[in-house]
Amino acid sequence: MKFQPEASHFIDGAYVEDTAGTPIDVIYPATGEVIARLHSATPQIVEQALTSAKRAQKAWAAMTGTERGRILRRAADIMRDRNRELSILETHDTGKPLQETLVADATSGADALEYFGGLGGSLTGEHIPLGGGDFVYTIREALGVCVGIGAWNYPTQIACWKGAPALACGNAMVFKPSETTPLSALKVAEILIEAGAPKGIYNVVQGYGDVGAALVTDPRVAKVSLTGSVPTGRKVYAAAAEGMKHVTMELGGKSPLIVFDDADIENAVSGAILGNFYSSGQVCSNGTRVFVQKGIKEAFLTRLTERLANVKIGDPMDEAVNFGPMVSEAQMNIVLGYVEKGKAEGARLVHGGARLDRAGFYLQPTVFADVTDDMTIAREEIFGPVMSVLDFETEDEVMTRANATEFGLAAGVFTNDLTRAHRVVAGFEAGTCYINTYNLAPVEAPFGGSKMSGVGRENSKLAINHFSEMKTVYVSMNDVEAPY
Ligand code: NDP
Repeated sequence: MKFQPEASHFIDGAYVEDTAGTPIDVIYPATGEVIARLHSATPQIVEQALTSAKRAQKAWAAMTGTERGRILRRAADIMRDRNRELSILETHDTGKPLQETLVADATSGADALEYFGGLGGSLTGEHIPLGGGDFVYTIREALGVCVGIGAWNYPTQIACWKGAPALACGNAMVFKPSETTPLSALKVAEILIEAGAPKGIYNVVQGYGDVGAALVTDPRVAKVSLTGSVPTGRKVYAAAAEGMKHVTMELGGKSPLIVFDDADIENAVSGAILGNFYSSGQVCSNGTRVFVQKGIKEAFLTRLTERLANVKIGDPMDEAVNFGPMVSEAQMNIVLGYVEKGKAEGARLVHGGARLDRAGFYLQPTVFADVTDDMTIAREEIFGPVMSVLDFETEDEVMTRANATEFGLAAGVFTNDLTRAHRVVAGFEAGTCYINTYNLAPVEAPFGGSKMSGVGRENSKLAINHFSEMKTVYVSMNDVEAPY
């Protein structure tokens, strides 16, 4: 098989296999063919990974941040040098077009390794004078062994977004990719070793939810960072709370994207396309509830459908293709179910809505208009290429409706009214907001959700606080006064 790795897991600097684990067939979404066969981690494999991480972590934390950072930055260089090879693998893991993976996956992972590598040497505490010469100093310490659990949409990026800040702070990580896309994280582990990382500080184990659960509940684990759905987040957060572990939860969304009638329609259509159809709609922060002010609704829909006529759906390895298959047959069927619900509940299908008559898990980019707030497609995360267009009349009305969701991951607004843009953003109940753009996630900026969409932030300097903790040290320069 063309993409068969040396073995299923990467532990203590080497590939490790245990064929007693449940088989995991890796399916290329563009054709349905099996491109690799892996095995889920057995309890012995989980034990090996945690033992190795625990052993490696202390020495890693004892290195200077600059030394650790140098290794991460070297890994970033290797990832960039191998971008094409890694992008081809990511395309086979996920089905995303090579046109996308060449610019959004290994490159984004490399950005995280470079950014957090660069911060490595500046992760310090502070000095707090108490008067009379007494003082406090704080030491920023690693948490210990961290567990990363990934979703299937951005396997390389998620492996790096979690691994890079964890390692920069002196932690070791055991990472479990989604069993749907298990290949890419193994390459991240390989590259870190090649860049000079000590064995055991970044281990990858494969498996289903039970393997994730075994990792989360292990007492040696100090922190869990999950990218996944809200139901999984709830379970993982509860399990982590049992052991009082630190958590970062990057969960799902049903984000609003508001287009006012003074907006540049062409830009708003571009934002809606990026925010609904990139990666075939399998992006957590997608603006899937597109609220368009009544006066420009038909103009918006006309330009949207005209531009969708130019989408190039097909073989994701063809670099001209900009729309690939869904990640799996199961996900495709979930999305088709939502399309049927949209029709049944009275939404107007204005584009797409069908599976493509070809091998692989291809759906058309789909647009529903006249969607109302109570429809299932306006309430639930679909995680596929289905855009709901809703009408609105006033700013007050749309703000109430935009926030009427349990999710709070992202939100966007297109308008040319400067004060309105900032007023709207201030009113959004969401962690990641956009004005006249959509779906950017550069490593320098915090990324994450409010409400049910998550806890904590990834990327930026803020991520450091989620992978380290402060030790407070009181120092007296004077005699100790006691009452008796
Ligand atoms: P899931 O929530 O189904 O799974 C996420 C990961 O958690 C998988 O690796 C899964 O393993 C694992 N898992 C499942 N159950 C448990 C458990 N009890 N304990 C520990 N781990 C467990 O998400 P998907 O993979 O289906 O990804 C899609 C979801 O991810 C969407 O809801 C999307 O919004 C969200 N997402 C959020 C992002 C964000 O940054 N906010 C970014 C990308 C996606 P297995 O797959 O083997 O079940």
